[in-house]
Amino acid sequence: MKFIGRNASSPNATRWDTFEKLIPPEQTPPAERKWQQRYQKSPSFLSLHLGVKADTLPTGTECHHILLEDWNRMEDPEGTIFVSIPTLLDPALAPPNHHIIHTFTPSWMEDWQGLSPTEYQHRKEAAAGRVIARLEKIFPNLSAHLDYQEVGTPRTHRRFLGRDDGTYGPIPSRKLKGLLGMPFNRTSVPGLYCVGDSTFPGQGLNAVAFSGFACAHRVGVDLGF
Ligand SMILES: Cc1cc2nc3c(=O)[nH]c(=O)nc-3n(C[C@H](O)[C@H](O)[C@H](O)COP(=O)(O)OP(=O)(O)OC[C@H]3O[C@@H](n4cnc5c(N)ncnc54)[C@H](O)[C@@H]3O)c2cc1C
Repeated sequence: MKFIGRNASSPNATRWDTFEKLIPPEQTPPAERKWQQRYQKSPSFLSLHLGVKADTLPTGTECHHILLEDWNRMEDPEGTIFVSIPTLLDPALAPPNHHIIHTFTPSWMEDWQGLSPTEYQHRKEAAAGRVIARLEKIFPNLSAHLDYQEVGTPRTHRRFLGRDDGTYGPIPSRKLKGLLGMPFNRTSVPGLYCVGDSTFPGQGLNAVAFSGFACAHRVGVDLGF
């Protein structure tokens, strides 16, 4: 899943956040600075976890949905809505006669900053209301069947996932010639390795598991094992 939308306030994320905390920017090797220019932060998400009564879902409802009314708004905040209903695959995840709807839509940190706790709460409720109203095209009367609602914002992602500005992860800042243009595990600093979603082969659990395996292998080889 890749989004190239608005640039957040500090566009270089992930690898570089940790990296820059270890090495001051003025001492960063030129090759590493070049990598930084090739990637930018993707947005964060507004996430809703909903508990709903089972009859909210029409018979034959599929597990995953993507809702987009206007192609021109695909990459905008609250443009595309993603829906996943895990209890259609494993009903034991929710109490009997209930389902979990996890739904999320792109959102940027800058839209959630500088708010008082009350304003933050109101903004969360308003944003959740907009998403739920749109989802009623797929699930009629969804709001009337809500049993439970939790709203997560970019601030939630930042706090609980430790991601800079709550970003989903790094994306190319311009068109790259395939994934092989991504950084590998070694850096220009001898003995300093990078691993995870800002290195080859990128985002997602499978990809970062591969990255971890590859990095361990690389370290082992460099140590002569
Ligand atoms: C909302 C959301 C939904 C997603 N859904 C999916 C999905 O369905 N399928 C899929 O394959 N992928 C999904 N992803 C992507 C996937 O989660 C990431 O690509 C993956 O977790 C990245 O792994 P990582 O190890 O590189 O980074 P992270 O998982 O972010 O791990 C980095 C860790 O480093 C810690 N850390 C940061 N700085 C420091 C520091 N200075 N000192 C010590 N610790 C530090 C953080 O706390 C964190 O635990 C999703 C991501 C998000 C945000």
